[in-house]
Amino acid sequence: VFITFEGGEGAGKSTQVLRLAAHLREQTGREVVTTREPGGTPRAEAIREAVLAGAAKPYGAFAEALMFSAARIDHLDHLIRPALAQGAIVLCDRFSDSTRAYQGAAGGVDGSVLRALERVVVGETRPHLTLILDLPPETGLARARRRAASAAPDGEGEADRFEAEALGFHERLRAAFQGIAEAEPERCAVIDATAEPDAVEAAIRKAVATRLPT
Ligand code: C5P
Repeated sequence: VFITFEGGEGAGKSTQVLRLAAHLREQTGREVVTTREPGGTPRAEAIREAVLAGAAKPYGAFAEALMFSAARIDHLDHLIRPALAQGAIVLCDRFSDSTRAYQGAAGGVDGSVLRALERVVVGETRPHLTLILDLPPETGLARARRRAASAAPDGEGEADRFEAEALGFHERLRAAFQGIAEAEPERCAVIDATAEPDAVEAAIRKAVATRLPT
């Protein structure tokens, strides 16, 4: 079973990935693998670092789409597909919907190009369920700023990056994720991420239980 988490900045994805992983391990007794994008394997993390830490001179959105796609190929081949083949539940913090939203809707890369890229890169390894953690960009950015302020110095490059984007960019991101959920309701569940972490966790458990009965 392949579950992805998507959403804008400060939505609480990484916290909720860990919470759901612990819950599913206990509930199902199955192996649960948690991972993230961009990244997830050493080579893919190196690409993440090259793209996101270069905030002062960012790559263009199309180059980002290609680099994150290369990272995704490595991640799928060396982590996600082997884990799924062994029967593990895989929880991934961001996946191809982030490319659609960040590089596509917000970054301006043509949607048909990204769809073609997604088809060849992801192939049949599409998520069974995608949890879209939705919240207003103002709320998410405030949370993300607080996190960045208390983070280790190596978090700085990534903090600069979202500070540099205008609010309109984040509004387009949110609309893009909402649009994906509307277009693919059988795959996607929108979760209200403005709530407290415990309430968000409960909503996620409920979505998983209804969408993926075990
Ligand atoms: O989810 P996380 O906070 O780890 O994402 C780190 C950053 O990666 C985000 O702030 C976003 O700017 C960037 N990103 C991106 N394009 C993607 C995925 C992530 O620009 N496809």
